[in-house]
Parts: sequence; C-alpha cells; structure tokens
Amino acid sequence: MKTPTEYIKNLVRKEIRDLTAYHVADPGDMIKLDAMENPYNLPEEILHEFSQRLQQAAINRYPDPNATKLKQRITESMSLPQDLGLILGNGSDELILMLIMALAGTDRPVLSVSPSFVMYKISSTSVGMPYVDVPLADDFSLDMGGMLAAIEQHDPALIFLAHPNNPTGNRFAQSDIEKIIETVNGLVVIDEAYQPFSDFSFTNQIEKYPNAVLISTVSKMGLAGLRLGLLIGQPEWVNELEKVRLPYNINILTQVVAEFALEHKVLFDKQTQTICADRELMFKQLEQIEWITPYPSQANFILFRLENGNADEVFQSLKEQGVLIKNLNPAGGLLANCLRVTIGTQQENQAFLEALKKAPK
Ligand SMILES: *Cc1c(COP(=O)(O)O)cnc(C)c1O
Repeated sequence: MKTPTEYIKNLVRKEIRDLTAYHVADPGDMIKLDAMENPYNLPEEILHEFSQRLQQAAINRYPDPNATKLKQRITESMSLPQDLGLILGNGSDELILMLIMALAGTDRPVLSVSPSFVMYKISSTSVGMPYVDVPLADDFSLDMGGMLAAIEQHDPALIFLAHPNNPTGNRFAQSDIEKIIETVNGLVVIDEAYQPFSDFSFTNQIEKYPNAVLISTVSKMGLAGLRLGLLIGQPEWVNELEKVRLPYNINILTQVVAEFALEHKVLFDKQTQTICADRELMFKQLEQIEWITPYPSQANFILFRLENGNADEVFQSLKEQGVLIKNLNPAGGLLANCLRVTIGTQQENQAFLEALKKAPK
C-alpha cells in the first residue's frame, strides 16, 4: 500500500508542495502587537444592544446570499460611490483569491511589489498563476523604472498594490499608481486595508478607470474577527467576480454584527483617531532610541530597522518579556533587520517600548 506522502507526490502540484502555509504565531498570554488588530473591543455602551441583535440572527437558515442590507449599510457608512458595483468577501483575503481565480488561465502573471502583503503570492501560486514581484526602491517608494519594465516584459493580467503598503506602512505616489493603471493591459487592484489610518483614498478615483478596482476590509478598523472585506469597481468587473464567489460567503453572524457595528461607525472612527495619535507618539519614542530607525507610517503599525543588526535577538528578547511583534528579518532584502509593531493601547505600547529598551543592543 502506498503512503499518503506517495499519493501527494503524484497528485499535489509541486508549487503547492513547495509552499509554506500562512503562519500565525500563537500569542499565548503575550501582549499581542503582531497582527495589525485594533486593540479595543466593542465600546461598552453598545454591548447590550449588540447581544440583542445577535439573538435575532436566524442561524438555522442560510444567510442572505447577496447580503443586501449589509451592502446598503456599507455603501452609506463608507460613502461609497453609488454607481459602482460592490462585492463582499470573507475578509479581503477571499477577494484577492477571487480576483486571481477569475483572471487565471492565461500565462500572464500576477505582479506586485516586494516587500508587500504575502497573500498575493500565496494565492497566485495556489491557483497556478505565475507571480512576479518588483522590489521597491530603498525608501519603499515604487521603483517606476522597474515597474514599467516588468509591465512591458510580463504583460501582467493582474497587479496588486497595497496602499498604504504592508509591511512598510507608506503610501505610494498617486501619480505613480495612476501611471501604472494607464499603462497596463491588466487589472490593477488597489488594496486599501489600512485606509482608515491614512489621509488619502482612491475610493473616488475608481470610477475613472476601466481597469482598476479597490479592495478594503473592516479588519484593521476593529472588526478582524468578523472576516469581512469589500471590493468596489465598475459593475462589469463585479459581475464577473460574482461568478467565482461562493453563494453564502458572508455568514449570518458577520452580516448581523457588521451591520450593527457600522451603525456605530463613529465609535470606531474615534478608536482609529486614538490609534493614529498613539502611532505618532510611538514614532517619536522610537526615533529617540539611537540604535533604531523607524519608518513613517500611514497605517496602524510601524516598521523599524535595528541598526546594530540584531533583529532576531531583539525579537526573541521581546517575546521573553511577554511582547509579541513581527520579525521581518527572515524575509531579507529590504526587510533585513526590520521588525514591525502594531499600535496597541497606550499601556501596551509603553510595555513594548520598555521591553525594547531592555533588549540586547
Ligand atoms: C490585513 C491585510 C489584508 C487582509 O485583510 P482581511 O480582510 O482581514 O482578510 C489585505 N491586504 C493587506 C495589505 C493587509 O495587510
């Protein structure tokens, strides 16, 4: 009899066998500043109403396959353009996969930049679509020479641009993104997962373009547990993407809770403002440590470089002191010796800074 491994070798594509599954560290009871979560749960004053709403969820029934009420709520509360199409995903991760599934099949690749969000590559590979990335410039801006050359060489079907970018935290020049949209034959996806923490959005530009869509998520603004992402674009694009969407991808609890939470969006906006103010405080404090270079951020995290070249040791020391952040040093390249910290509560941020100062220099 053959072993499972022998079957797998015959049946699972080599690209998949070579992949490593998306790794999520187990935080135990550490202070968790590794995953760009909003540290604040639902505000106290709406908890009672929250549980009442939950009781109304008919979990014996399939959810509304089109999530019509939730979509209306999203359009209103996020001031989305009315004449664009809207499609929801089980997190924007699912929308990334749907985009790739819909456009896979030709030899034309997915193109993105490095470093950027790892799911672009993981999902491309899992669907069998070639993936190409262009390194960012040293200041993490788009290397337009490199981008335009790669576009010319590979004629990509799909381009992902996280804006602000993860894990670097910066935005790209608007004119560079526009130039890319105007140059490619493919579809450009602007991923605004961190828009709530930034001073710019492409939301109102998307209607101008026949080949650009925008994805966003409620995860980073404080609802990561719901798994809800959204895509806006020309109705024709949304129509195609609907064909690869699983019928009930937004479950009833997500629909009910997201609708409720967005009715109280002002409370989340307040949390976002607090996080942005705390980010500026954190940046100043990091700047004062002479062996650290923090990079300016328009997201809810800060990337910083350890000038002594000991990112692994510092990461380990923080962990031993009960603070979990993200070690990007193993990725190498522009991320060599870089760590990324998510902005938490003021207490958590302070605990992180104190642990950092105690770490080996
Ligand atoms: C976190 C993140 C996402 C995924 O968000 P979900 O909606 O939670 O799946 C997408 N893009 C970028 C750039 C991210 O950092």
